[in-house]
Amino acid sequence: MSRENVATVAERASAVEQALTAKGRLEEGALDGIAQLEETLDWHNGAKVVARAWTDAEYKARLLSDGTAACAELGFEGPQGEYIVVLEDTPECKNLIVCTQCSCTAWPVLGLPPDWYKSPEYRARVVREPRRVLREMGLILDPDVRVRVWDTTAETRFLVLPIQPKGTEGWTEAELAPLVTRESMIGVALVSGPGWANGMSKIDRAGTIHSGE
Ligand code: FE
Repeated sequence: MSRENVATVAERASAVEQALTAKGRLEEGALDGIAQLEETLDWHNGAKVVARAWTDAEYKARLLSDGTAACAELGFEGPQGEYIVVLEDTPECKNLIVCTQCSCTAWPVLGLPPDWYKSPEYRARVVREPRRVLREMGLILDPDVRVRVWDTTAETRFLVLPIQPKGTEGWTEAELAPLVTRESMIGVALVSGPGWANGMSKIDRAGTIHSGE
């Protein structure tokens, strides 16, 4: 087949959409709705949730007892966010999340998953050798820090509440939110601030180890 006969991705997608619509398998405009929804999915929403939890103890308590309702308080709700469970990191326990079956994330607060989260390698290895995977991703945990790997279920979507970095006490929500990364809310990184969290360490790309206290 000559190259000019190959349909573009958009043309092929449109042909599939038309065929499914013609067969009554897809409602008119359904894909436009999904495309619009996708624009609202943003992990920066989760960063706002984390920053609020760090600055408002009562909100944090609500977040840990009912993640779905507390995220909805800030306007973050919708598909794949119907049952959000928030996991609080402590100096003694590091949480991290995976979907071993596919690639589920809590869309309203974590957005769509990054490519590495979807990779078969991450999904297979992180449950067997989490410390090693974390180390490869740049996070070294002290041996006495417990690791809990949470596998997403059909309904549950997790969000890790990372430890607020030392030296940011008294910062406002607006100052804290930009520090929070998607990786820290998946659990494979710490939130870095002026200091590092208790009991944890990090090795940077240059191989320098920053020790916890
Ligand atoms: Fe999944």
